[in-house]
Amino acid sequence: QDASKWGLNMAFLDKSKDFPVGQVCVNFMEGDFRDYRDVLEFGKDMDIVTIEIENVNTRALYELEKQGISVYPQASIVETIKNKGLQKDFYTRHDIPTCPYIKTNNKADVYALIETGKISYPFIQKKCEEGYDGRGVVAIMSQDEDHQIFEEPSIVENFVNIDMELSVIVGRNADGQCVTYPVSEMVFNKQGHLLDMLVCPARIGEKKALQARQLAEKVAERLDIVGLLAVEMFLTPDDRILVNEVAPRPHNSGHHTIEAFWVSQYEQLIRAITGLPLLQTDHFQPAVMINLLGERGFHGTPHYEGLDMILEVEGVFPHIYGKAVTKPLRKMGHVTVVRDKLSDAIDMAQKLKNHIKVKS
Ligand code: ADP
Repeated sequence: QDASKWGLNMAFLDKSKDFPVGQVCVNFMEGDFRDYRDVLEFGKDMDIVTIEIENVNTRALYELEKQGISVYPQASIVETIKNKGLQKDFYTRHDIPTCPYIKTNNKADVYALIETGKISYPFIQKKCEEGYDGRGVVAIMSQDEDHQIFEEPSIVENFVNIDMELSVIVGRNADGQCVTYPVSEMVFNKQGHLLDMLVCPARIGEKKALQARQLAEKVAERLDIVGLLAVEMFLTPDDRILVNEVAPRPHNSGHHTIEAFWVSQYEQLIRAITGLPLLQTDHFQPAVMINLLGERGFHGTPHYEGLDMILEVEGVFPHIYGKAVTKPLRKMGHVTVVRDKLSDAIDMAQKLKNHIKVKS
């Protein structure tokens, strides 16, 4: 939508024209972004190719690069980031603070770590690949939960104490110009690991905020990424900031930038990959974003209960993604609340949260 404001000719690849992007774009190719041939076929006539999910076939992205097409973010970066083990090794190599981790190939490796005392309860296991929105992550609190340990190649981390989860969106173009958005605070849904509420600016001091933005910029620079990078971080009780993981694309923790900032994460992405100047992010209003998740117990054609309340209030922006089916905890849309005062935005978002339900 942001690219079309400027008359750019965009094309999209996804499995079905019924998916959200199919409803708003002109050039659409039905195909599987995990499939080598589909990605190659789609990308071969493009000037620039970008992604909005990491699980795109990277072999095809490498091939497109070889054919002279600008692939941003670069294929090697997508490859590193989409595997949590490689991603963590990257942090270690570049001296980027992160939770200590151990890589495992299978369940037996995890048991061996427990037996030798190299990992102790509670710990977290994360599948190296295809983990997404908490789906490939399990917290093993005690021996009773060992049956939940994954068989797949993973990383395991001891639990760290987290005071706050933070996110910084970074934009970077091919000239190396780099801009960061103010730090957001992510409040998670404890069961689903899905973002429950995003608060911007994060309620941390200026010094901490600057430190988080500088760390996010360092990650983008060390990756040498062209495009967007969402850097998720943990703030610990002893005031350390650890990088948890990154995403090389527009991110859920940047949705509020559509209304709260003069330049959204999407426009910044377009600027970054087309070699245009990036905009600073000094002008914004405090904002809170809530995800609209499918209610538990409902499966089928979505019905958005309580939207009437949203439509009556200024500075409240609903985004319904137009997905055909709701499922428990599926992301069906989001709502951003923009106010002059952050506390007002939080109050309103909380009210909306209790009022809006996605049922079927
Ligand atoms: P995903 O890729 O599914 O988002 P994350 O690595 O972000 O996976 O983990 C999901 C959530 O699990 C985090 O947002 C955080 O709340 C929690 N978590 C992850 N790693 C740790 C850790 N080492 N200690 C404590 N909590 C963690």
